[in-house]
Amino acid sequence: MTTQLWIDGEAAEATGADREVQNPATLATIETVKDATADDVDRAVQAAHRAFPGWAATDVTKRAGIVRKAADLLAQHREELVASLVQEQGKPTLEAKGEFGHFVNGLYFYSELASKVRGGYQELPSQFGRSYGLTIRRPLGVVGAIVPWNFPLTLLANKLGPALVAGNTVVAKPAETTPLTTLRVAELLGEAGVPAGVVNVVTGAAETGEALVTHPLVRRVAFTGQTSTGQRIAELAGRDLKRVSLELGGSDPSIVLADADLDAAVKTIQIGRYWNCGQMCLAPKRAFVVDEVYDRFVDTMVSRVERYEPGNGAEPAEKPKLRIGPLHTARQLQTLQDQLADAVDRGAKVLVGGGVPDGTSGGHFFQPAVVVDVPRDSRLATEEVFGPVLPVWRVDDVDHAIELANDTEYGLGSSIWTRDAGAIDKAMNGLETGITWVNQMHYGYDEMPFGGTKMSGVGREHGAEALEEYVEIKSVVVGGLH
Ligand code: NAD
Repeated sequence: MTTQLWIDGEAAEATGADREVQNPATLATIETVKDATADDVDRAVQAAHRAFPGWAATDVTKRAGIVRKAADLLAQHREELVASLVQEQGKPTLEAKGEFGHFVNGLYFYSELASKVRGGYQELPSQFGRSYGLTIRRPLGVVGAIVPWNFPLTLLANKLGPALVAGNTVVAKPAETTPLTTLRVAELLGEAGVPAGVVNVVTGAAETGEALVTHPLVRRVAFTGQTSTGQRIAELAGRDLKRVSLELGGSDPSIVLADADLDAAVKTIQIGRYWNCGQMCLAPKRAFVVDEVYDRFVDTMVSRVERYEPGNGAEPAEKPKLRIGPLHTARQLQTLQDQLADAVDRGAKVLVGGGVPDGTSGGHFFQPAVVVDVPRDSRLATEEVFGPVLPVWRVDDVDHAIELANDTEYGLGSSIWTRDAGAIDKAMNGLETGITWVNQMHYGYDEMPFGGTKMSGVGREHGAEALEEYVEIKSVVVGGLH
């Protein structure tokens, strides 16, 4: 197949500039693809627009069945798709398998939910005899789904699943650095029976994304990415009052109190912070630990983080080392290094890691770090840290922790580690985030709505709530029947 565009059920040529897709671990070029121009985007949107009436009119159980069959076929191609993800994204194979599991489960979840969605009914007073008021749900039309590079598959499923079962058609745009796995997925969706034009893929960067967002036939934009990009998309989509969901950046706090199961807290925060080389929206990016357990927390965290061995995600590390992949791009690595240097210049102490590891050449590798004494006005505290660096602050109590935790423009996730019911209540109600975990952090609940407050976004993915974001609620009033 061509690795450029997928339009109307087949591979299609893009007409924009060449773009090399690189393996972030080796910097080798995997493929050269062309960007989609505004004309190419128009072809894809027109195909989705043509396919819409037929797909919307397809019986909901049939639509759900096609999505389920597609998930079955994708699962049969797990090895191939996981390898492709490792190659273009850079994550270790184990993590790519985890992402692939979420991807397929997300599609199964919405295929099961599709026929369980209910509308409303009430009797209404009327001069036309007995009248019935109904609320029905209608699909919106063509959805533009814009996805970042950190979880190319999971974040695609979050949009494809609810959009398709609700009867919409989709034009997806993967990140310009991770188009290949998505294009293969589109081909497999076609093989599984998704009708031509129902799912289309365009590749390219900001220009391609903006052509999609501003296309007059796109009625809804589902976006995941940086806050600044989300602001731009909201501005563009707002001109035509398009429906928008924005899943944006985060700076999640983790609060650890004295009675916490400290081993569980350290281990879970460690996995959350360093998974995907720290490039996860929902990673715990700031730890607030009470004085009583601060030293133990920091020491245990450092001893665990010392075990990371940066390297090619396709090759596991030898035990007891833990494999961590490269940062995705040179720019990501540079930003992380600048953020760390800024904190160190202002007095922060790096307890482990923080440099480019010996013996790794070629890729964007970085030795995972734990940092303390971080000034509250440094970039490590105020910006989203999208890489494997954990700043830890000492706090007096839960109130102090919540105050510092909320001192950010972001509001995606948060966690608290304690069995004190009063402290949990304060956290549930006081933390200004879209999700709060208590004594756990689990990223893959399809059942639970997920999204941000403040500058972390608008709207929700996952759960039955996400389906509501892909439909128009229409009131129908029926009278004059007798
Ligand atoms: P990004 O905003 O640079 O890019 C995301 C996507 O938007 C890419 O496909 C890109 O090509 C496209 N894009 C860029 N400029 C555009 C424009 N002007 N118009 C339309 N599309 C445009 O984000 P990124 O660096 O790829 O992703 C990392 C960010 O995503 C982090 O901030 C992370 O926290 C966030 N993220 C959020 C969630 C969530 O669910 N809240 C999940 C994962 C990642």
